[in-house]
Amino acid sequence: MADLAEPSRGGHGGSSPLASIAVVGGSGFYEFLEDAEEVAVDTPFGAPSDPITVGEVAGRRVAFLPRHGRDHRFPPHKIPYRANLWALRSIGVRRILAPTAVGSLTHLYGPGTLAFPDQLVDRTRTREQTYYDQGACHVPFADPYCPSVRSVAIATAREQGWVPASSGTLVVIEGPRFSTRAESRWYAGQGWTLIGMTGQPEAVLARELALCYTAVALVTDTDAGVEEGEGVTQDEVLRVFAGNLTRLRALVVDIIKSLPADRDCPCPHVLDGIDLPITLP
Ligand SMILES: [Zn+2]
Repeated sequence: MADLAEPSRGGHGGSSPLASIAVVGGSGFYEFLEDAEEVAVDTPFGAPSDPITVGEVAGRRVAFLPRHGRDHRFPPHKIPYRANLWALRSIGVRRILAPTAVGSLTHLYGPGTLAFPDQLVDRTRTREQTYYDQGACHVPFADPYCPSVRSVAIATAREQGWVPASSGTLVVIEGPRFSTRAESRWYAGQGWTLIGMTGQPEAVLARELALCYTAVALVTDTDAGVEEGEGVTQDEVLRVFAGNLTRLRALVVDIIKSLPADRDCPCPHVLDGIDLPITLP
């Protein structure tokens, strides 16, 4: 089996990775890569959402994958999550930053709030959640996000003048519809603070591949059950996200620049001692 901790070029041959850090996000993120080129990658789980764009950020090899496809053809429940994460690992990626639009379940976080969730509740129903369909392979998921990248990201955001929510529980719903008021009130009543449609199974599939995964969440709306919320609309989500995109992109670039060269977190070791039914790329 390949060494799980060290990047390899996977199916592309050669010894240096095409990229070691990836951004999985909306199409507005393309412009941050220098000397960008596209790489078509196939996987045992089909093709990813789009070809992966690889390039440089401050001398580091970085990949970008638009999770919905560049023409936004995949709604949240149809995104090829398994292919996306597998493809990124196969070109050498070991750390993933995942900018995402979320709703707020609390009046404390209005539109424009930046949040780094530290917990996740899975309310999805129809999505493939695992690479390990045979044998006993149960990865730890008590803390779904990389603690090291999260803390670098929070510190970098503060340096840039954001006032980020440095914790929070993201509930991921199946979609593509938004929540009813009753659902939204129920989620808020549990103490959950953020709501989205794409954070899962992205997070668990990254964990199953021993990758570092960090959600960078931007609040675009207040969900239906929160007192101030009139019920979310798609127009509202797109408008707020577009209005913050330049600043969010600058933040992601600075987070990449601030990451230590090597991983210093538990993520590379989550599969130690587990007998995997498949060989990872
Ligand atoms: Zn990590």
